[in-house]
Amino acid sequence: MNQPKIWLSSPHMGGGEKKYIDQAFSQNWIAPLGPNVNGFEEDLKQYLFSNSLDRSGEVAALSSGTAALHLALILLGVKRGDEVLCQSLTFAASANPIMYQGATPVFIDSEPETLNICPQHLEEAIKDRLAKGKKLKAIIAVHLYGMPYKVEEINNIASKYDIPVIEDSAEALGSSYKGQKCGTFGDLSILSFNGNKIITTSGGGALVTKDMNEKEKAVFLATQARDVAPHYQHSQIGYNYRLSNICAGIGRGQMEVLDDHVAKRREMHQFYLEFFLNSEVQVFDEPNEDVFSNHWLTVIKLKEKEKFTSEELRKYLDKENIESRPLWKPMHLQPVFKDAPYYGNGVAFEAFQKGVCLPSGSNLDPNEKARIKSALKGFFDYSEVKLEI
Ligand SMILES: *Cc1c(COP(=O)(O)O)cnc(C)c1O
Repeated sequence: MNQPKIWLSSPHMGGGEKKYIDQAFSQNWIAPLGPNVNGFEEDLKQYLFSNSLDRSGEVAALSSGTAALHLALILLGVKRGDEVLCQSLTFAASANPIMYQGATPVFIDSEPETLNICPQHLEEAIKDRLAKGKKLKAIIAVHLYGMPYKVEEINNIASKYDIPVIEDSAEALGSSYKGQKCGTFGDLSILSFNGNKIITTSGGGALVTKDMNEKEKAVFLATQARDVAPHYQHSQIGYNYRLSNICAGIGRGQMEVLDDHVAKRREMHQFYLEFFLNSEVQVFDEPNEDVFSNHWLTVIKLKEKEKFTSEELRKYLDKENIESRPLWKPMHLQPVFKDAPYYGNGVAFEAFQKGVCLPSGSNLDPNEKARIKSALKGFFDYSEVKLEI
């Protein structure tokens, strides 16, 4: 196989990134603070909140999305013995910081429309955990693959039981619900700029807070919790979680092309919708017009009684040097979380069994799309699924 690899989702530079990095070099701002860090935070704040009449907020640029989740839990006072309700179908980074705090994750199944946290099972879990005398400190809800979760239902349950929401928007920068951007729906929200996300700083993340006071607390913790004193004085445990001024420069350049990247990911999604039209393969799509997904990754689901498995599809594409990926394996099925409570009825597991993420990058060219198309055609023709293309 000599054809170059087609990646699931690879970094896509816009061209403007280097000028910010050059500025950092010429001003010698080679540090985890500086004009690019401030500028990137301002760009994100504008992007998230400029259309929003009823919400404002602040952004703290951090070294990763995982660091942002960790600080969110600390700001909410999550500690040993507490429980945190968390979507099961997600990347492990959503749940790991619960363990950093010595708390217990309680995993919640997905609903079938968006594959995100199921409101019914969430409420069932809350009632049951409260009846067992548990302290519920937060709900972690994820916009999986860029698809917004059921924002209103989740927020209603959260306020009914007075539990704060941490919105994991790592995959959903550029998505929105009823015109309001994802990343603005949580009591605290997080973003990720890892290498394969919709925009990248090579590695990085951000915490979105409701006000400056919370942001300052986050930045304080992210810079080793130094008290105001000429000597180094500490009254709390701190972390080294700030974003580098070089990486933030990449982020500023990426913000210039974010909307273009979202449009291109949505084109890829359209490409798959058209390809699988009139077939029995389901392409996960927005359930209604309130929902706007950045379609970070396009997900397909094989029909119920398929002759072949999602793993066979993955292997077939791999032979064509095309990367695809199973859906996240649900957290309640992970060996490391085997003792954690789980509430649900198997929706996440079924999605994991039958689902495949297809190449969705904003930088796939017509030649690569043609290769994807002919590989899929080869596989599904062979499998005798009816396809009219
Ligand atoms: C990528 C990701 C994270 C973690 O972000 P990092 O920047 O890689 O630490 C958290 N949650 C989800 C759902 C993610 O996809």
